[in-house]
Amino acid sequence: MVGGADNGAVSVWDVLVGQAPVVEALAAATAAGVNEAGGLVAARTAMTHSWLFTGPTGAGRTTAARAFAAALNCESIPPGCGECAGCHTVLTDTAADLRTVRPEGLSLGVKDVRELVRDAASAPTSGRWRILLLEDADRLTDQAANALLKALEEPAQRSVFLLCAPSVDDVLPTIRSRCRVVALRLPRPSDVADALARAGVEDAAARLAAAASQGDLDRARLLATDEAARARRAEVLRIPTRLRRTGDCLGAAADLVNAANADADAANTIRDEVETEALKTALGVGATSAGSTAKRARAVKPGAKGRAMTVRGAAGALKELEKTQKSRGRRTVLDSLDRALVDLAGWYRDVLVLQLGAPVDAIHPDHHELAGQLARVSTPEQTLRRLEAVLACRRRLADNPGLVPLLTVEALTLALRAG
Ligand SMILES: [Zn+2]
Repeated sequence: MVGGADNGAVSVWDVLVGQAPVVEALAAATAAGVNEAGGLVAARTAMTHSWLFTGPTGAGRTTAARAFAAALNCESIPPGCGECAGCHTVLTDTAADLRTVRPEGLSLGVKDVRELVRDAASAPTSGRWRILLLEDADRLTDQAANALLKALEEPAQRSVFLLCAPSVDDVLPTIRSRCRVVALRLPRPSDVADALARAGVEDAAARLAAAASQGDLDRARLLATDEAARARRAEVLRIPTRLRRTGDCLGAAADLVNAANADADAANTIRDEVETEALKTALGVGATSAGSTAKRARAVKPGAKGRAMTVRGAAGALKELEKTQKSRGRRTVLDSLDRALVDLAGWYRDVLVLQLGAPVDAIHPDHHELAGQLARVSTPEQTLRRLEAVLACRRRLADNPGLVPLLTVEALTLALRAG
């Protein structure tokens, strides 16, 4: 058997919850990769230089890619022990032969990809394979995608690219056609609940978090362990019953966006400050307090021509950093809003299930009474329209990151009221 949870042994595959077919395929490819690196080329067909891990948010595509990376450079037999230096350094992102690129903002530019491609050209230093892990390959700019494509077309002998994206349609067809696709699915709530219970979460709480997360394991973990996350979800699920007047709709939208902004501040403020101060020290601009750092750098009066060049260079670097930080902040806001919209969609789905008397489990069983109230005073057609409105709002925000979130969410809450 693959893994080893049943006999108490640990393996890198254990973290892949409810993904048995994927684990089987990756373990087979790993074994082939070990043989290939050892000079046994019989199994070459099973090992490929480019992989594309797909699956919805929460299915664990990056987790799967990282487990595979660890197994490829594992020192044990069968590979993937999770404990040797090869596994450990990959799992903690400290392996010399692993480069991870994780776009923090809304897109992944050509500069990051060029570095990745340069790395891919050199032989591994200690492991069997040099591994290039690209999270969120769907955020590649066209220029970056083309730079990557060249490396995929002519792979170095001991290099493996592991790309991650929500679906195959999120990367260029030319990239997709070079990759072997590993399709992850959202685990069943029962698989998620079992995983939480194994991690020590009490049974009822594990089941509730598993249902409410709709298969997103990270979200389930958060809901099971974080009181603030549970409170946020409860706030979101109260929204449908708040929308009586136009003012209620605008208020609910403002609450949603403010909460998302607060999430972004909590996640990024300190990090932004540390980064800015570090860059200013490196550039010799000098520490200053609040306000726009790029503007301040530009405001410095140069005493000589050479000095003016330096100051302009520093201003440019600081401006670039501000741009990156702004993009990262915006992504955090959109991610947070998206989580709220997923909760809301699940809630309308529960209302619809009640109205139709469908024999399926609720996503938010702890808010069943509230869903029952709305189910009695509205029609299934109205509920379906509202569910569609939530999903359309998600798509709109995902496809147009330039939209003003507040206006988009206001349009949604007004549509939910109108039904
Ligand atoms: Zn190992």
